[in-house]
Parts: sequence; structure tokens; C-alpha cells
Amino acid sequence: MEGTTVRRMRKRKADNKIYLCAPVNALVEGIYEQNIPFSELKKHGDFGLGTFNDLDGEMVMMDGLIYRVSSDGKVNQITDETACTPFSCVTFFQPATEETLNQELSHEEFMNWMKDLMPSPNLFYAFRIEGEFAYVKTRSVPKQENYRPLVEVAAEQPTFEFTNTKGTMIGFYTPPFVPSLNVPGVHLHYLTMDRSSGGHLLECRPRKLMLEMQYLYTLELSLPSNLDYLTWDFQRDISKDLDKAEK
Ligand SMILES: [Zn+2]
Repeated sequence: MEGTTVRRMRKRKADNKIYLCAPVNALVEGIYEQNIPFSELKKHGDFGLGTFNDLDGEMVMMDGLIYRVSSDGKVNQITDETACTPFSCVTFFQPATEETLNQELSHEEFMNWMKDLMPSPNLFYAFRIEGEFAYVKTRSVPKQENYRPLVEVAAEQPTFEFTNTKGTMIGFYTPPFVPSLNVPGVHLHYLTMDRSSGGHLLECRPRKLMLEMQYLYTLELSLPSNLDYLTWDFQRDISKDLDKAEK
């Protein structure tokens, strides 16, 4: 049995890649302008999340469409692919497994349920979750000047609450040993079913949902080439800041 699973996992390996257009530590340090156009990002995926140049909102990519949740919580679709991102992570979404949930869970129970679905904490995974939620709390980020650390910005983040809401969550799990590259653990962005609001997920209570999961065996990382990035001293341990900024 185990042998078959391993063989199947190996065969699909090459197609299952997570792409980061920059390491997250640059964003945490406040480099909010990397000028990476979405046309470039879309060469590496049709599904994912991130932010926009100047930290101007939360990004969700779904079926190749790009949505921005701005700091008032409203969503608009971005069709101009010359728009840029300083940090995003994407993949070509091809789910390997599907799970359903039919009972209300607390946020903590939901996170544990997701963890139990992952065969190992040491791979990356992509998730698409469709369903009904008793409660969802999200945040978005207001437009910023460069060099203001993300943890300071996040301390003033506008948050949004939804009750009895239907929608889609898109995101990734990242192993704990690469916090300078991507947000460790589960990172999800939410869009309501009518695609009118959403944001970076802080907390939720799911009631009924379908979760699709993809195993990601390869990480591809692009490194920026602008002067800010090239000359920055990245020796500071950003993991505490990142934990605060993302929760
Ligand atoms: Zn986020």
C-alpha cells in the first residue's frame, strides 16, 4: 500500500510546485515595492495569494482571476496585469484529495482538522475550501510607504466580521523551517460567494465545507533585483514579527 502511494507521489512531483515571487522577509522588513507584474506571476500559477505594490490590499488568485480586497474590505477584480506585487505565492492548482466537513468547528478545531489531513508537516500544501461558515473574521492592509515594518502596519489593520457567510478560502500550508521565505503554517485568504468582500483570514467557525488539497513537493523562489533588496541586511530574525503580523 505504502509503496503505491510513494510511487504516485513521485510521479506527480514535477507538476506540484509552489512559486514565491520574493521571500516574505523582504515584505516583513517593509519593502513594499518590488514591481513584479501579475503577467509575470501568472506564468507560475493560476491560484494563490499575496499583496499588491505599496501593500495596497490583500490579493486572492482563483481560476486565473485576480481579486483585491482593499482596506475597506471591498473586493474588486484586477484585470490590468501590469499591476505589481511585492510578495505573492502561487501554484497551478491540481487538487489530489477532497474532504468534506459537516459539523460546526471552532477555529482551533478547524486548524487541527486541517493538520490531520496533511500526511506530513514537512511539505507545502495548497487548499481551496468552499462552504458555509457560522463566523469569519478577516483583515486587509492599508496602503503604505516603504520601510515601515509589517508588524507596525498590521497593528493598525482594519478587520471585518461575517456571520452566516458562504464563500471560498484559498491558501497554503508552509513547513515551519522556512519562515524567512513564506508565512509558516496555514495561511488563507477569504472571498465571499458573491466576491464582494473578504480578506486575510484571522479566525473562522466553519459549518459545512468541501476542502480540496494539493501536495506541493517543489519550491521555486525568485529573488528581487532592486537596490532596496540587494542592499538590505536580512540578519534580523523576523519570525516573531511575522507571527504577529499574520495572526
Ligand atoms: Zn495573507
